[in-house]
Amino acid sequence: MTTLTRADWEQRAQSLAIEGRAFIHGEYTGAASGETFECISPVDGRLLGRVASCDAADADRAVSDARAVFESGVWSRLAPVKRKETMIRFADLLDAHAEELALLETLDMGKPIGDSLNIDVPAASRAIRWSGEAIDKIYDEVAATPHNELGLVTREPVGVVAAIVPWNFPLLMACWKLGPALATGNSVVLKPSEKSPLTAIRIAQLAIEAGIPAGVLNVLPGYGHTVGKALALHMDVDTLVFTGSTRIAKQLMIYAGESNMKRVWLEAGGKSPNIVFADAPDLQAAAEAAAGAIAFNQGEVCTAGSRLLVERSIKDRFVPMVVEALKAWKPGNPLDPATNVGALVDTQQLNTVLGYIEAGHAEGAKLMAGGKRTLEETGGVYVEPTLFDGVSNAMRIAREEIFGPVLSVIAFDSVEEAVQIANDTPYGLAAAVWTSNLSKAHLAAKALRAGSVWVNQYDGGDMTAPFGGFKQSGNGRDKSLHAFDKYTELKATWIKL
Ligand code: NAD
Repeated sequence: MTTLTRADWEQRAQSLAIEGRAFIHGEYTGAASGETFECISPVDGRLLGRVASCDAADADRAVSDARAVFESGVWSRLAPVKRKETMIRFADLLDAHAEELALLETLDMGKPIGDSLNIDVPAASRAIRWSGEAIDKIYDEVAATPHNELGLVTREPVGVVAAIVPWNFPLLMACWKLGPALATGNSVVLKPSEKSPLTAIRIAQLAIEAGIPAGVLNVLPGYGHTVGKALALHMDVDTLVFTGSTRIAKQLMIYAGESNMKRVWLEAGGKSPNIVFADAPDLQAAAEAAAGAIAFNQGEVCTAGSRLLVERSIKDRFVPMVVEALKAWKPGNPLDPATNVGALVDTQQLNTVLGYIEAGHAEGAKLMAGGKRTLEETGGVYVEPTLFDGVSNAMRIAREEIFGPVLSVIAFDSVEEAVQIANDTPYGLAAAVWTSNLSKAHLAAKALRAGSVWVNQYDGGDMTAPFGGFKQSGNGRDKSLHAFDKYTELKATWIKL
């Protein structure tokens, strides 16, 4: 918690140091080409600074350095307890710099400062701390070997990990990868989104301060089609971990096949159903959660509850409750601690969202709330939380990931129909069910093809639970001990005694 006011944050924003260079072998450095691109704040359209536009040459340099450091063993062969202590120091430094990191995040991608400070940064430091704390408590296995043999089943770091992350939770998505990747002893080349690179660049220096050896964590800002592609095609990257869109996720699988068959772990998009049955224990709570599930982080959330499935018998009563609850989510200046809906990440994303709102009108859905750009006079990029009723699951606004605050209400008549509509999507990231009936909750949860299912809440979970998708929402899992699987190879060593 902080007592800083909007004026305090604005003043700090004026004097905030913006580092836009890449970070290779423990030092900030420009792109080899000398190219840069502009970093524009969606809060007010202001130029924050210029950022290194890395490409294949920088990828080569960072990967070969990461490889050399990995082979040296300075981190990869360090005792787990030592890696743990270092990672805890890293997490402590993230906490100590929470206000600076929160401000960078908010200026860079537009989310409310209260969220950056109270959600993103603490969750990011928790991911680093939790992974570090876990690493000296994990045991390898001895197989059920005959008397005169010994079979060891051990886990080893994969080597060089490339991590490509999106712009919606820039620091948090990076730390979901960095936690287990670093804890297990790998070297990492992190590529943040070109739309929000600043916190990733900043924390590389904090990793060095914590004692993570130079070259273990490198950060290459730049575009997907240049440095991202170069990392994905690189012959000396062992594992590629990605969070982003399904479209790019599919492309990365092709790149891996075209290069060295690097392991590819994908956390991709979603179109998550939030199912409200007539016997929900508390319809008011369900309505408020439904509003939050689409308005939080401007709807730029992979698990956004973007399809609200409502049992027809309560729909006429329930939809006005959601419309009312949405009024509490009001776009405002993200540097104001009272703001709970900030700016969209950029004008490209705004146009995408407005395009889907047009599509909703064109396909005959009924606009019940929002629907327009707002606060244009600020120079920033804001849109009203929007609700369409009368949506069919065949409409584009129900099928495609909008990645903005646009909610589609779809009616259903039975449990079977709710589950059928919920699963009728290429995605499978998350789902929620609201009911007082325990059996119905369990049966629906089992039938839903999604990596996370919430009952009588939306978006629960912490570092102890795996997070990821079924179907075209991805493979593998972030968070929990399951995430460690992505960053390690299993080895069987069979010894004749
Ligand atoms: P995106 O796929 O456009 O970009 C993600 C990253 O990939 C960026 O760093 C981008 O530069 C890079 N990239 C783009 N083209 C590339 C290429 N050809 N080769 C290599 N890298 C390339 O996604 P986005 O718009 O940044 O993020 C939004 C998406 O992320 C949404 O679909 C959202 O659902 C998803 N997301 C998923 C999760 C999850 O855990 N499942 C979490 C957050 C966001």
